[in-house]
Amino acid sequence: MTVSVVLFTSDLRLHDHPPLLAALRSSDDVVPLFVRDDGIAATGFDAPNRRAFLADCLADLDRGLRDRGGRLVVRSGDVVDQVGKVAAETGARDVHIAAGVSGYAQRRETRLREALDPEGLRLHVHDAVITALAAGAVTPAGSHHFAMFTPYFRRWSQERLRDPLGAPRTVRVPDGIGSDPLPSRAEVSGTSEGPATGGETEGRRRLTAWKRAHLAHYEDMQDVPAADATSRLSPHLHFGTLSPTEVVHRVRKEEGPGTEAFVRQICWRDFHHQVLAARPDASRADYRTRHDRWRSGRRAAEEAEAWKEGRTGYPVVDAAMRQLRHEGWMHNRCRLLVASFLTKTLYVDWRVGARHFMDLLVDGDVANNQLNWQWTAGTGTDTRPGRVLNPVVQARRFDPDGSYVRRWVPELEGIPGKAVHEPWKLPGSERARGYPEPLVDLADGLARFRRARGRD
Ligand code: FAD
Repeated sequence: MTVSVVLFTSDLRLHDHPPLLAALRSSDDVVPLFVRDDGIAATGFDAPNRRAFLADCLADLDRGLRDRGGRLVVRSGDVVDQVGKVAAETGARDVHIAAGVSGYAQRRETRLREALDPEGLRLHVHDAVITALAAGAVTPAGSHHFAMFTPYFRRWSQERLRDPLGAPRTVRVPDGIGSDPLPSRAEVSGTSEGPATGGETEGRRRLTAWKRAHLAHYEDMQDVPAADATSRLSPHLHFGTLSPTEVVHRVRKEEGPGTEAFVRQICWRDFHHQVLAARPDASRADYRTRHDRWRSGRRAAEEAEAWKEGRTGYPVVDAAMRQLRHEGWMHNRCRLLVASFLTKTLYVDWRVGARHFMDLLVDGDVANNQLNWQWTAGTGTDTRPGRVLNPVVQARRFDPDGSYVRRWVPELEGIPGKAVHEPWKLPGSERARGYPEPLVDLADGLARFRRARGRD
């Protein structure tokens, strides 16, 4: 009787799961294992919104395994110790895991290898599970990663992605192997009021429904927050309840500009993952330093607090920050403009914003969050690091009738049309009561940023 352990991490699905299928092909029994890892808890990464979504994912994965004759085994503690214990209890000789890109995932892989090798256990690390193309699969001449998106996209688009795999029909789990109870969403407190539901079943349902209703118009509508026409698949891609490879294959079945634009966004995801794999320090340190001396002190802290709470006096910024708090999600256009506002207009360190996003986002992802923050702050891979997004210009362009702002800022719901983007310009009698004056003058913010970056 041969046994393999499959350690699930950011790949909480049964469809298109190379580690699980490899384990099933090479052994009689398989232990599908998830470890509630103390190491991740210690990083402060398991924020309530993501814990709740994770609970859904694990429950759904367990259901899917039970439908196939198996079940999920959950353990708690140090991930390497727990894998060793489970292997010893079941006599497993092989451990399968998806390759990760963060410093934490890379250390986990090294530690697993160091612990398993002396015991004669084999660790199999599978590429292209968490990303569509493996990090490092394509590289530019003379470097181990692409530092610019456009050449990466060109190269990525020429690669043939592997074919997606079906879900297994049966999974046999060794008798008698113990499991902790599954975490439950009900145990999690402090979540937003309206965060998404997790799990592979929900991810697949959403992909099918969104593709039918919105893919064809994605290119035209992707930047319109009020339309809410993007896929909202980001939490599913983060937790791996959907495979990026399968998503690309499925959308490519429909030809058109919507498909191309959408696949490009999935490529952005792979792009940031390959940057982080090569530069894991970029989760904390500037990818490219601009020698910033970010503002600190009481005033800067108060302004950052107003930004977090959605009371900057710039309606589109406040609408977006309130949506984040309420849903644990924010539209990409809004993420760009609130991040630009914090780092460039207020000149507050990108790490302050990235931390706040990580505390609330259901899709909070080290590669996508930290590197998008760095991109916006101009310390990352943006080829125009000095660009500053003006929130009023952005709002007029992407929320032309003001409906996104009115949805999230009830104080302004009586102001019609695009006047809602500049309430301070209204005569006193028409001003919204209880809504703050602008926190900062945009021109002053811009001048300060330019001085700081040596461009005045
Ligand atoms: P869609 O428009 O439907 O796009 C499909 C998928 O493509 C997304 O689900 C996502 O996986 C990927 N994608 C889209 N845009 C990007 C991008 N710019 N970078 C990388 N991948 C992208 N995305 C996260 O998944 N987690 C984060 O923590 C995160 N933090 C961000 C922080 C900032 C400051 C910014 C500017 C962007 C951030 N993004 C993050 C990227 C992007 O905003 C979200 O992926 C997107 O808004 C999710 O909504 P959606 O699924 O409807 O996207």
